[in-house]
Amino acid sequence: MLGLMQDRPLLISSLIDFAALYHGNTEIVSRTVEGPIHRYTYKDLAHRSKQLANALTKLGVKLGDRVGTLAWNTYRHFELYYGVSGMGAVLHTVNPRLFPEQIDYIVNHAEDSYLFFDITFAPLVEKLAPQLKTVKGFVALTDRAHMPKDSKIPNLLCYEDLIGAESGEYEWPVFDERTASSLCYTSGTTGNPKGVLYSHRSTVLHSYAVCQRDGLNLGSADSALVIVPLFHANAWGVPYGACMSGAKLVFPGPALDGKSVYELLRDEKCNFSLGVPTVWLAFFQHVDANKDLDVKKDILLERVVIGGSAAPRAMIERFAKQMDCFVIHAWGMTEMSPLGTTGNLLKKHAGLPLQQRLDVQAKQGRTVYGVEIKITDDTGKELPRDGVAFGDVKVRGPWITKGYFKGEGGGVLDADGFFTTGDVATLDADGYMQITDRSKDVIKSGGEWISSIDLENAAVGHPAVQEAAVIGVFHAKWQERPLLLAIRKPGQEVSKEDLLAFLEDKVAKWWMPDDVVFVSELPHTATGKLLKTKLREQFKDHKLPTPGA
Ligand code: ADP
Repeated sequence: MLGLMQDRPLLISSLIDFAALYHGNTEIVSRTVEGPIHRYTYKDLAHRSKQLANALTKLGVKLGDRVGTLAWNTYRHFELYYGVSGMGAVLHTVNPRLFPEQIDYIVNHAEDSYLFFDITFAPLVEKLAPQLKTVKGFVALTDRAHMPKDSKIPNLLCYEDLIGAESGEYEWPVFDERTASSLCYTSGTTGNPKGVLYSHRSTVLHSYAVCQRDGLNLGSADSALVIVPLFHANAWGVPYGACMSGAKLVFPGPALDGKSVYELLRDEKCNFSLGVPTVWLAFFQHVDANKDLDVKKDILLERVVIGGSAAPRAMIERFAKQMDCFVIHAWGMTEMSPLGTTGNLLKKHAGLPLQQRLDVQAKQGRTVYGVEIKITDDTGKELPRDGVAFGDVKVRGPWITKGYFKGEGGGVLDADGFFTTGDVATLDADGYMQITDRSKDVIKSGGEWISSIDLENAAVGHPAVQEAAVIGVFHAKWQERPLLLAIRKPGQEVSKEDLLAFLEDKVAKWWMPDDVVFVSELPHTATGKLLKTKLREQFKDHKLPTPGA
């Protein structure tokens, strides 16, 4: 017997309709690419998204067509989130930090019909345009006065002219909630980038997790600075959760430096923000360099979400001590929309002394409802949730991918429908997960696994070490042993022997790196993660000095 409840499809357009009706006067503030701060409301957002939908219809964009963006976090990019998906087309957010060849590959692979871009990227678009065969027109996200001058971009349109000519009357179409809504490519550290294709249903369900108390806890009382880029992993679900919750939104545009971030947080009285560790490093550098700033008075942050890579314990501590701000350490990935776990506290943690609380917060948190997580060994057998055993993290749920766009990468689910994340972690009895590695980075020594991340974290604890990377290199007896690569802080001295002695009481004896090499730089991906494939290539012939190597 089926239930008798209404089958209203979960569509992205329902989020903007809700926000316009119930949070119509709530502000959306943007630092624009042109410079000045722009302010408007959810009502304006809804109106202009409908103008955009009308414009797209006139351009011939149809259900399922891909529409690309190369843009920063501003209100115009946000309008594309609703105008494009709302009318049934697929919003394809392209990461402008990727190499031009990757962007070329991605836009062609997605077969984007139009490409909307911020004027900052005009030179890049001009260079790529001849190769982008499926793109019928390029739309500069600006007004007539700021259009790129003497540009050779073919079929160049001006966004404000395009939507300004249209009515704000538009009836959002109703279609199957499983219809594709947006597309985001992984950064492709191995092989070509692969497309993750979200649906309206997956997006709306994921938004509930964003607004859930034990998720990201986004609500109508919040003023949220969205630093995580709208082109990255669907900006952690906030663009959709914002309309569901009616939070005030603040977009930083292209200015992600410490000073600009500080000023926006202060001026817009933000109590909530989200960003990768790197942006917060820049923020604290600004604070350190300007001793006259009254941080306690200026910065009203209560919660900050940090993810994308591990939030350093020292950073979580600094937010707590300097601003009385709670860091929600979150883990996820593009393939998971992206939320998987969030580091909220349980009742039993109430009143814990700070250092013990940090032990909990430094882990990647517990799963949000909607994501099932397990860890397995090499043979696929599930491992215990004891906080000690570590294995491959596998996930299942309605906002997790079941395969990449156009079948790239083949079947990606195990027999039980779980997706292998490529991360290695422990789970404890309370369900808190701690990432110990990427599966391809874990070091396999004599059949046992060594966590490269644990070793790196320990090494950067040395006051003279700026950054560290640990990779496995060939060892005749043990198959692989850890090699530590480290960058010294400017003007600081530390020797191999010093560093190994420093690690002695911090890691298991058999985890100790067999060798240390000091380098002047380490390679990173477009999203700021260590590029270990390159390091392994570079050091593949490195001869370890240990016996039996
Ligand atoms: P990109 O490689 O483009 O940044 P993703 O954002 O999808 O793509 O990257 C997801 C990966 O980032 C995860 O599989 C994990 O390895 C890493 N990651 C994300 N959040 C965390 C975290 N809190 N701690 C450690 N690693 C993380």
